[in-house]
Formats: sequence, C-alpha cells, structure tokens
Amino acid sequence: MIRSLAAALALLMPTAASAQTGTPPPPAAAVVRHEGGAWTLDLTLDRDAPLWVFGESEALADGRGWRLHQWTVETPGAVLETIGGRDVLRGVDGAPVPRRVRLRMEPRFVDLQANYDPVLTFSTGAVAWYSEAFHLIPLEAADALASLPRDLGPMVDAVGPTRTTWSDADGAVLAQGQRLVDPDSTRSGTYILFGEADIRPGEAVSTVVDPGLPAWIAAELSDYAPRVAAYYAARLGPGGSDAPTVMMSWTGPTAGKTSMAGSVLPGLVVMAFEGEGVLEATPGVRNMARWFIGHESAHFWLGQTVHYESALDSWITEGGADLMTIRALQTVDPAYGGRGRLQAAVDDCIGFADEPVATSGDRGEFKAHYACGAVFAMAAEAVQKRATGGDWFDFLQPLIAASRADGVLTREEWLSALDKVSGDPALRRDIETLLDQGSDDPAGLVAAVLDRSGLAYRREGSRLVLD
Ligand SMILES: [Zn+2]
Repeated sequence: MIRSLAAALALLMPTAASAQTGTPPPPAAAVVRHEGGAWTLDLTLDRDAPLWVFGESEALADGRGWRLHQWTVETPGAVLETIGGRDVLRGVDGAPVPRRVRLRMEPRFVDLQANYDPVLTFSTGAVAWYSEAFHLIPLEAADALASLPRDLGPMVDAVGPTRTTWSDADGAVLAQGQRLVDPDSTRSGTYILFGEADIRPGEAVSTVVDPGLPAWIAAELSDYAPRVAAYYAARLGPGGSDAPTVMMSWTGPTAGKTSMAGSVLPGLVVMAFEGEGVLEATPGVRNMARWFIGHESAHFWLGQTVHYESALDSWITEGGADLMTIRALQTVDPAYGGRGRLQAAVDDCIGFADEPVATSGDRGEFKAHYACGAVFAMAAEAVQKRATGGDWFDFLQPLIAASRADGVLTREEWLSALDKVSGDPALRRDIETLLDQGSDDPAGLVAAVLDRSGLAYRREGSRLVLD
C-alpha cells in the first residue's frame, strides 16, 4: 500500500509552489453555485494535466460513477468518464484538461454503498451536498490510474484537498450548524445545506427535519433515539459529539421503494428516507427505523469515539454497531427478538467468506463486513459471557476506553482482547483466516468460530442455525 502510494505520487507533476513551501496549495478550486434553480460547478485547475481523478468514486449498477448520472461538462475539451471505477476528468485527445471547467449538475439522491451519499434532497427543494465530493488529483498519464491505491484519501491530503466554495444566489447556506454566505471548505466531511430548513435546537440533539417526512419517523426519532443513546452511554461511557445535529431528508413516496440510508460525520447524523414503503408505521418498517437509528447512533461510539485504522477493518465498526443495535433494541423493547438478524449475519457471512472478508469491498461485497463483523462480535460476546458472565458491551467497553486517547481501535487490539478473554488462540486464528484468506469451506470455518466461542447451533443441511 505504501509503495503503491509512493509510486502514484511520483507520477504527479511537481509545481514550483509546492517545492518552495513544502505544503502544496490545493491544485483545484471548486465553486458549487445554485442560482435560479440551476446548479453549476466551476473548477479552476492550477496546472496542465491530461487526467484529474476524483478522490472518491463509486459506480452505480451500470458501471458508471454517480457523477456521470448527474453532471454534464459544458466546457469544450474536457470529458467526464468512469475509468476502472474512478470518476475522472480527461482532456480530449491527450491534451490537458482546460484550466477552467464548468459543469452543470442535476442533484438527485442516490444511496451509495461504500461512500457518503453525495446529495440529500428534501421535499422543500432544499439540497444538502456532501462536502468532500469535489477533491481532484492530477495525473500525468492515463496508465497512472491503474497504480493508484484503493483509498485515495492520503493522496488528497498529499496533493492538497480542493478548496470548495458553497454559493447560493438565494442567500446563506447551512454549514456546521451555522448560516453562512459563500463559505469555503477543504477537508471537513459534512453536509452543506442549500435552501429552507426547519432547524430545531435541542439539549441532546438539534434536528433539521424535512417537513414532508412521515410524522411517525420524526416521532420515533424523538422518542427512541435518546433512549438508545442513553443506553450506549451507560454501558460504554460518553460517545462522539456532545450535541450532534440530526438531519433527516425525505426524497418522497417513490413507488415500490422502502429506503432508509444514513451516515455519521463529526457532530452530524444524516438519515435519508424515500419510498411509499415508509409512509405507514407498520411493525416491520418501525423495527427497520429503530434498527437504523440504533445502528447510526452506535457509530458515535464505534466509529467516532474510536474509529478503525483502515477500511479493511470496517468489520470492527459495522459488525460491532450491528450487535450493539440488537442488544440495545432488546433492552429498550423486550418484545424485540433479534434472532432473525443474528441468523442472517451467520447466513450472509458464510455466503461471503469463500473469499477474504477484509477485502470484500474491492469486490463490491459491502455487506460482508456487517455480516462477518457481527459474527465475530457474537463470538467475542460469547467468550466474554463464558469468562465473566458479561455481554458484548462488556467486551467492547475496555477496548473503547483504552483507545480513547488515540481514537483508533486497531484490528490487533481487537483480536488481542479476544485472545485474552477466550484463552484460545485458535479462535483468533480462524477469524484471521476468514479475514485474510477466506475458505473453500466457509460454513465449516464459521462453524469452528461458533464452536470455539461456545455459541450453540445446529446444522440444517448446509446451514448453521443458531439455537
Ligand atoms: Zn454503519
């Protein structure tokens, strides 16, 4: 990883400024402008390069990045393309991309699997942009693309993050809880809201809730979220931000859809709802909303108070948040079973584990870290119970406490804690095999993890069914 990063950086064209100052000025500036209902993106590039790659990309089902579905280049001489899963601006016929490029944007909500959703849309016409969608990295040649590391974040930092200006002809935008005129951002991951918003300051959380959102969802949030957060805090100590803002958008009652998407950023939880399926609070969809609130809230502890070292370790935060959610739901609502979720994690993990779980994201198998991470968390919980009578939170609490200072919960720390509690190095070894190699017999290896941790199950054909 480090070698490939160095190789990729060597392909960047140095500039006089960077040689003199040591810290490069941002190679690109972006202005996101809303005027008369239209959206433009004006890019100013500080050097000639035939290719500029966006810092984060994600292709949709047709293989083209989300930007290609919403953005159109207006400047002659520049083309927006997806190459090898990355969105790039390319100069025509090998020429440099023009130093100034204008694009027209038609922001639409799209739920990305592995990245922050780039745009949240509100029924009022308001739009919130993910602030980090505009980072650009210059490349010397198209074949440099192939040698780029998976995660371009360190390269964005090395070349200098794009300075993005947020400009609304209708007035100030909402950024980090404040109304500001034409603010700039560089490397602060947040959502910038254009348009009207009903901002309600609160003691525990401030909310920005779409007035069109089905009322039961807002009620569920105000009733349920504080109880779940209080439970997490009681078990794990203080988490994340003191008084985060919760932003809830409503794309509308799209036919045939039941969609809840969310993410957590410093001081901000965003939840995007869409579809006719969430109009009515049926028991199923209510549980789904509670699950969603529980999972996103869990990230204030597992994700923010401590985060993972690399995206290869997101099984720690995603699977861990899933088991936190199940245990919290069972506590707050004793009628909630949770068995179906645990069983689904076992089934799904076996389905994914024929290949290395750690790198599942590279294969587009984004659910593997949730499913196998939850199975590993269940194993940790079971050995904790065997050792002390405790539960998942009892395993997690000292891990989080020990990592508060540096904010990073590493894989090594997690697995060492497992070793200590289990006293069985083979349990760790089997989990590491699932993470790094996968197995020709994934059910057999997952069964070994369940066996070693003392989780009861029975075999039904090729399935492992939890007791
Ligand atoms: Zn999550």
